[in-house]
Amino acid sequence: MQQILEIFETAAAHPHEQARAWKQETGGRVIGIFPMHFPGELAHAAGALPVIIQEDDQPITVGLSSVFNFYCGYNRSVVDQAMRGEFAFLDAILFGDHCVQLLGTADVLRDHMPATPILFNQLITTLSAPWAMEETRKTFRQLWTELEALIGRPIPEEDVRASIRLFNRNRSLIRRIYEMRRSGRIALTGRQLQHIVKSSMVMDKARHTALLETLLEQVADAPAPERAIRVYLSGHLCQAPKLEILDLVEQCGGVVVDDDLYHGFRYISTDIAEEGPPLDALANWYLQRNKRVPCPTRADKTTDWETFLLGAVKTSQAAGLIILMAKFCEPHMYFYPEIKEAFERQGIPYLLVETEHESMAMESLKTRMETFFEVAKRRIAA
Ligand code: SF4
Repeated sequence: MQQILEIFETAAAHPHEQARAWKQETGGRVIGIFPMHFPGELAHAAGALPVIIQEDDQPITVGLSSVFNFYCGYNRSVVDQAMRGEFAFLDAILFGDHCVQLLGTADVLRDHMPATPILFNQLITTLSAPWAMEETRKTFRQLWTELEALIGRPIPEEDVRASIRLFNRNRSLIRRIYEMRRSGRIALTGRQLQHIVKSSMVMDKARHTALLETLLEQVADAPAPERAIRVYLSGHLCQAPKLEILDLVEQCGGVVVDDDLYHGFRYISTDIAEEGPPLDALANWYLQRNKRVPCPTRADKTTDWETFLLGAVKTSQAAGLIILMAKFCEPHMYFYPEIKEAFERQGIPYLLVETEHESMAMESLKTRMETFFEVAKRRIAA
């Protein structure tokens, strides 16, 4: 088990190295995909390795001239990586327009990487609109056609179905780990869980799935420490939270029992139907996954994030909520007041942690987190 976790950790820490190694080994294409709404299945069916583009931990240097310093760490890091030549190995980049800041980043990448095809596709944001299904089908049809032009051959429906089946299997295995964590039957740390999900975003899916199957065979029932205070982790769109923050939760006496992070449950929440026309299945997946885990970058009259979070905290029997908000993430900032009010009304402890790409003052965060856990403890005792 430890050996598999180490493979996941290495892939998560060095996504470009492992993608380059895959490319060298197979001679295949690597397609970078921007978070959070485009399925990797189509790129996989095109024979490519889809890799979700990650924030790295390098300081922003050369990128400073091309991106506003009031953009989120993810955007600034991506621009910086592009200008450092880190994406030169990518054969194409698949962009969505899920927030205004990413639009600027797409332009910088187009400017700095003129030889790299940038497949820019616009997904409808109003998910409950009557025309949403048709528009989404059109977008995925366009992407399908663009990928066919990129590889110079048609992508048969059967290949897309096979990729959907593989990705579903991968998601379902990670969800099983989530269920075990929720029910306290597994003592994986927050850091280890992030490695599992993040490596799934960047590794060859068949290999990752095979490793997950072995991991689940080996995983012994090793319950989480009984005295740990159960917490739910929310937020952090697009980018993985710093591992030190996840460690801090545990150092302060907590255990994360569930989350809606993109580098977490959000990424694996929803499967794509394996029957019927794949284009319909992909469009349905896009429209339905917001009901499983609402996203502040989408508009859907039938769901809201705060109600989802109240229910998720209750279901996971968490004593409180820790919200990780990337600094300058506008979609998250717009929703936070609603979440805050809902949790205050219910008297459920919550803690907002604003995260930064640059180094953070961990000592003062530790004090705030200890206070949060003290409040949660008293509530449990009351
Ligand atoms: S949604 Fe937030 S984290 Fe994602 S790119 Fe936009 S501002 Fe950054």
